[in-house]
Amino acid sequence: MKVPLLDLKAQYKTIKEDIDKALISVAESQGCILGPEVEKLESDLAKYTDCKYAIGVSSGTDALLVALMAIGIKPGDEVIIPTYSFFATAGVVSRLNAKPVFVDSDPISFNIDPTKLKAHINKNTKAIIPVHLYGQCADMDPIMEIANEHGIMVIEDAAQAIGSQYKDGRKAGSIGHIGCFSFYPSKNLGCFGDGGLVTTNDESLAGMLRIMRVHGGKPKYYHKVIGGNFRLDAIQAAVLNVKFPHLDSWTAKRQENAELYTKFFKENGLAETEGKLEFDDKNKVLLPEPVYKKDNLKYYHIYNQYVIRVQNRDELRKNLTENEIGTEIYYPVPFHLQECFADLGYKKGDFPVSEWCAADSIALPIYPELTNEQIEFTVKTISNFLNK
Ligand SMILES: *Cc1c(COP(=O)(O)O)cnc(C)c1O
Repeated sequence: MKVPLLDLKAQYKTIKEDIDKALISVAESQGCILGPEVEKLESDLAKYTDCKYAIGVSSGTDALLVALMAIGIKPGDEVIIPTYSFFATAGVVSRLNAKPVFVDSDPISFNIDPTKLKAHINKNTKAIIPVHLYGQCADMDPIMEIANEHGIMVIEDAAQAIGSQYKDGRKAGSIGHIGCFSFYPSKNLGCFGDGGLVTTNDESLAGMLRIMRVHGGKPKYYHKVIGGNFRLDAIQAAVLNVKFPHLDSWTAKRQENAELYTKFFKENGLAETEGKLEFDDKNKVLLPEPVYKKDNLKYYHIYNQYVIRVQNRDELRKNLTENEIGTEIYYPVPFHLQECFADLGYKKGDFPVSEWCAADSIALPIYPELTNEQIEFTVKTISNFLNK
């Protein structure tokens, strides 16, 4: 049985008619940049993320970049980020000649550990970018408290977390000063190429983000500030407008799939005791424990990724590949050990939790169209490998 990591063709099949119609309609209108499709998306997603303003941009990376530009990050400024995330979180900081300052992760949520923030704040610290990794919110209360105390801006990297709720029900992207989203095809809401979104509740920041999106010109061809081409294509917005009404049901399926994994792992005697993280047992897996799961919280975790931890991760991955089960390592090298950041002076051992996550985590297929049989087969295959 083949189990791909992600099957976007399966999703397309379920909405083909509407997508095709939307694509043709953009072709016929030839309104290819921004325009009514982008405005509809912005208005729907502002509501969905509980934000006053939403601004479509060219990618999730550009969402982060334009956010940092809008808050005026300059060369020499310091921006605190988790050392364990997708590269874009760090890359955008360095591209503005600012300095990324890394912080270790929390061992349960994989997200930035807020108890380790304070030690990294100094007079050059201008922003914090918490990442809501895999679809679960970082612990925002202590982060906002520290940020407010020091007058630091908070930019949420919500690229993997559209719709995800913090423990008090607030939505990802509505808690900090600016929220950044990605519509890369593998995200829960993905387009047919690159696309992104920034959100904010601050009117003047929204204005600045809109200006920055079009090279900083307002009115057109008159520039008080320097922005970039961060525009979203109409064709991507049209795809997203067709997909958006399905987002909640797709998320529900991802959550069901996660629960099925837990059930099968437990039935096979493989699941490590809940919350217990130190494990010597080579035959067990550590399941991703949703941190904020409560009865009244629908989107405690939106499972953009389902990441387990296991010893012998690389061997297991090889075995799964041989059995035609798709997996991925998010992410094999934390930022502080990346070659391009060598001049920042970090070394192995500086952030042990992140290094541990990088060494033993593996993402299993979790996409909505996955069948129960595929999940059961995946767990069985893991079980056979671990018990051999
Ligand atoms: C996907 C992603 C991004 C970048 O989004 P793109 O649309 O691919 O540019 C940034 N941060 C995180 C955590 C991501 O997962």
